[in-house]
Amino acid sequence: MNPFLYPKSQHRRTQQPRSYSHYPSYKPFLRAEFGRQCVYCRLPDGPKGQDAFGVDHYRPRSLFPTLENVYSNLLYACNCCNRRKGDFWPTSDEMRAGQFIPNPCDHVMFDHLRYQSVRVVARSPAGERAEKILMFNDDESVQYREFVVGLIQLAEQQRNRLRATITEIERQSELFPNRIQALSPEKTSAENELIKIEHYLLRLGGGPS
Ligand SMILES: [Zn+2]
Repeated sequence: MNPFLYPKSQHRRTQQPRSYSHYPSYKPFLRAEFGRQCVYCRLPDGPKGQDAFGVDHYRPRSLFPTLENVYSNLLYACNCCNRRKGDFWPTSDEMRAGQFIPNPCDHVMFDHLRYQSVRVVARSPAGERAEKILMFNDDESVQYREFVVGLIQLAEQQRNRLRATITEIERQSELFPNRIQALSPEKTSAENELIKIEHYLLRLGGGPS
C-alpha cells in the first residue's frame, strides 16, 4: 500500500454540507471528501493529524471573495501546500499555456502529476507549474514520505505475520479439538493485535476514518 499516488479519474463530490458563513466549518466535510489526504501532494493526514491540514481556497479569497464560503471552491490540503499556494492564480496567458495548479475535482491529477517512488514527477505544463510553486520534492517532504512508506511496510509485514498465526491456530484447533481452550488466549491476543495494526495502517495511509 502506497498512499502517495495520484487519482486516475476526476473526483465527484460526495459530501453535501449545509451552507456555512465561516469556511473552516467545512473542514470535517472536506476531510471526508478527500479521504483524509492533501489534494495536491497526497500526504495522508493520519500521521501528522488534521491540525497539520487546512481548508484551501482553490480560487484564492483575495481574487474571488464571493467564493470564500462556497463548498465547491474548497479543498483539503496540508498546511505546507496551502501556504505555498497562497494567492496563486494563473493569468489568462498562463491559463492558455496550461500553467495552472490542477485539482482533483476539475482535472485528472494523474495526467499532470505522478509519483516515482516517493518523488513527484510532472507530466504536463500544469504539473510543472504545480511542482514549482508547491515544491513537492523538498528534502523534508521526500524524507517524510520515505518514513511513512517504511512504517506502512513494517505494519504490513506484522499484519501478514498475525494473519498467518491466526490461520495456524485455527488449523491446530480443528486438528486437535482438545487444545481449543489452550489455544484460545493466543488467538484472542493475535486478533487484538491485528485490529491495532489495521488501525495503524488506516491512519498511515489515509482512507476512511
Ligand atoms: Zn500537500
